[in-house]
Formats: sequence, structure tokens, C-alpha cells
Amino acid sequence: TRGRLYLGLDFGTSGARFGIIDKSGTIQAEAKREYPLYLSGESYDWVRSWKETLFLLLQDVPRDLRKHIVSISIDGTSATTIIVDSDTGEPLWRPFLYNESCPDALPTVKSIAPPNHTVCTGSSTLCKLVSWWNRVGSNKKPALLLHQADWLLWLLHGKLGVTDYNNALKVGYDPGLDSYPSWLVCQPYYHLLPSVVAPGTPIACLKEEIRNKFGFKKDCVVCAGTTDSIAAFLAARATQPGKAVTSLGSTLAIKLLSNTRIEDSRFGVYSHRLDDKWLVGGASNTGGAVLRQLFTDDQLEKLSEQINPSETSPLDYYPLPKAGERFPVADPNLAPRLLPRPESDVEYLHGILESIARIEAKAYGLLKELGATQVDEVFTAGGGAKNDKWIKIRERVLGLPVCRANQTEAAYGAALLATRGDQQNIL
Ligand code: ADP
Repeated sequence: TRGRLYLGLDFGTSGARFGIIDKSGTIQAEAKREYPLYLSGESYDWVRSWKETLFLLLQDVPRDLRKHIVSISIDGTSATTIIVDSDTGEPLWRPFLYNESCPDALPTVKSIAPPNHTVCTGSSTLCKLVSWWNRVGSNKKPALLLHQADWLLWLLHGKLGVTDYNNALKVGYDPGLDSYPSWLVCQPYYHLLPSVVAPGTPIACLKEEIRNKFGFKKDCVVCAGTTDSIAAFLAARATQPGKAVTSLGSTLAIKLLSNTRIEDSRFGVYSHRLDDKWLVGGASNTGGAVLRQLFTDDQLEKLSEQINPSETSPLDYYPLPKAGERFPVADPNLAPRLLPRPESDVEYLHGILESIARIEAKAYGLLKELGATQVDEVFTAGGGAKNDKWIKIRERVLGLPVCRANQTEAAYGAALLATRGDQQNIL
């Protein structure tokens, strides 16, 4: 027998995936789709692409598994914002993408929010909302703000106006107070904001027409989602305070589970709520992008084999793809330091990997200084995680156990969220 299964969907920047797990967390199926592109005037019709991809992925779910799926959740890119008609749920405007900036709204947002609040950046959800509000003027239809994940979940459950406290952070929701703050409640667009529940909270049953069309289980519930980077953290199952995940992709991003909440906009450090704990994060511009400027992946592998990771490299660099750093050094003009270059490429790479490890150590040190729980174990993800020599170097420099995360797909994290919505699992 298949038992009870959980479906997680991840809507990332370039495509979407699903993962199906059983109660023990074992993957039963997974698949991936690129977004089909539809031109609409000057830009792309993203809403159409996402919607189509959602239903294509549901079709990709093996038929024999569908009737065993008891719960579904979705993660989406953070701060991707859709303003919809509050009667029909249909978008009133093209979506604002995660990385889109609305600098026109920034002065207004800065004038209402506390200094250095997470919303005080042009790409925050609140700036997107305020920019839309000012652009549309009077004569607005009754509207609602949803995040990408909320809107896709709505297509499945049909209950309009619900989000989770991870997605809602960048619109100004205060997960510590568990409410929208008073400075937001008094704004004329407050009524557009969705109600907020914990990620993984069951919202409603899967719509009957979808259930019948695809053959999903009766009573299959659809649960509140989260953002893509939080879902990727959940995938690593670092569930105790002091456990952290370092992602070594093009950049170096760290996330630490902490008992305390910390924020520091100078370093771009902020905390997401995860139940009774806080997920503290920051991102450095160092990382794989610099390595890729200097070496091919093939060279990286061959040169790394020759490194002795227990030896300390005397070379001290600050590898950056271009000038400017925010975390753990807040300096928009910080110049890359990649000289002197020794004759041996093995020594050069050793120096670079060790320098990036020192930046990682400094980053965890800074989170501690800012008041977060001390890190005691690091899981690692991204392209750099496959480098065993680097892992050894990092263990020595950090003075901590470092290991590759077993699961790193956000879709796996979304499936874990879906397990929370299974009432039978809770009881
Ligand atoms: P992203 O998703 O951010 O683009 P990935 O997680 O796919 O990045 O990782 C790609 C990065 O991994 C590249 O920048 C590359 O330099 C780095 N990389 C690939 N192979 C290795 C290796 N063996 N050792 C260290 N870094 C590597």
C-alpha cells in the first residue's frame, strides 16, 4: 500500500517542480517544467505561464499516486505580487515580479514604516502595492493583494484572500505580533491585504472539479505555503536552533535557525518566523560566480582534487564578481581582492576557497553578534556543496561539522509543509 502521500510544488524563477513524499519523507515521485512564455504587449504574461504550469504539473503526477495524496502545499518566489479582483480572483494588473523595483513608492513607504524596516526597499511587496495604488487612482474595483504562492493555491482551493506569515513579511506583516502593525492598518489600502496563517495550515479542500478531473483523493486539503528560499531551508530538515544551511550557488547565502529574532537592514539581515523559532538569514556577494569567472566547473573539480584541505592557505582574498558587498561587510564600494595570484592554480583555488570559508565564518559570527543563537552545525547546498575538499576546508575554518544537505529542493520543503496540514498526522 502507498499510505498517505503529500504533494509539494515549487514555483521558482525559471521553472516549477513538484515532489511527492510519504510519511517517512521518502520521495515517491518528482518532476520539473520550464515556464512556457507568452508575450502580452511589451512583457510576458506570467500569470498565464504559472497557471498553465500548475495544471501541467498536476497532470505529470503519476496517476496511481493521485488518489493517495492527502495534502498539497506550494511555495513561490518572495515578493512576487498579484493584485486581483476581490470578487473573481482574476488579476487586475500584470504581476509584479520578485526582483522588480518600484522606487516611485519608496518615499511614501519610508514615511509610514519604522526606520530600516524590511519593507523599505524598492522591491518589497509593500512598495509594489503602494506603486499600484498611486498609479490606478480613484475608481478602483474592489481588489485584493496576493503573493504568487497564494494565488496558485487559490486556484486549487478557491478561498480568496489567504496568505502565510513568510510571504507576508515583505508587505509589512509582523510575525512577532501576529498581526499587521498599526502603521499599516491605518493606510487606505489596508483592506487589500490578505488574512495571514502559519505556513502549512490547511485552508480548504481541493476544489471538487479539480479533484474529479485529475482523480485526487476525496478530502485532499490545500495548505498555506511559504517562499521558495524558506522551502529550500525546510528541505534540509535543520529543525533545531543552532542548525544552519549555507547555500553556495552564484552567491553565498546563509540561514540559521535561532531562538531569537534579529534584524539589521545595514547588512540586509532579517528573520522569518518558523513556529516558535526564527529563521535568520543574510547573503554575501561572494560565491560561485567569482569561481566561474576564473575556472570552468571541470577545472574546479580537477584542481580541487589536488588541494590538501588540512593545510592553511597563506593567501587572503575577498572574492567578489564586482565591487560592492552587504553581508557580512556592509560596504557598497568594497573592491574585489583576488591578488596576488600564485603561479600554481591549485594554490590559487585553495586560497580562494579558504577566503570564502573565512567570509562564511565571519557571517555566522556577525549573526551571533547581532543576537542570534550560536551556530553548531552547517548543512550545505548549491553547486559548491559537491566539493568535498571545500567542505573539509570549511570545517577547519568554521570549527564546526559541515555536511551536504540530503534534500535541497524547495519542492521537497513544500511537501514537508503539506504533511503539517494532514489532520491525521497531527492527531
Ligand atoms: P545558482 O543556482 O546560484 O546559479 P548553483 O547552485 O547551480 O548556482 O551553483 C553554481 C555554482 O557552483 C557556480 O558558480 C560554480 O562556480 C560553482 N561550482 C560548480 N562546481 C563546483 C566545484 N566543484 N567546487 C566549487 N564550486 C563549484
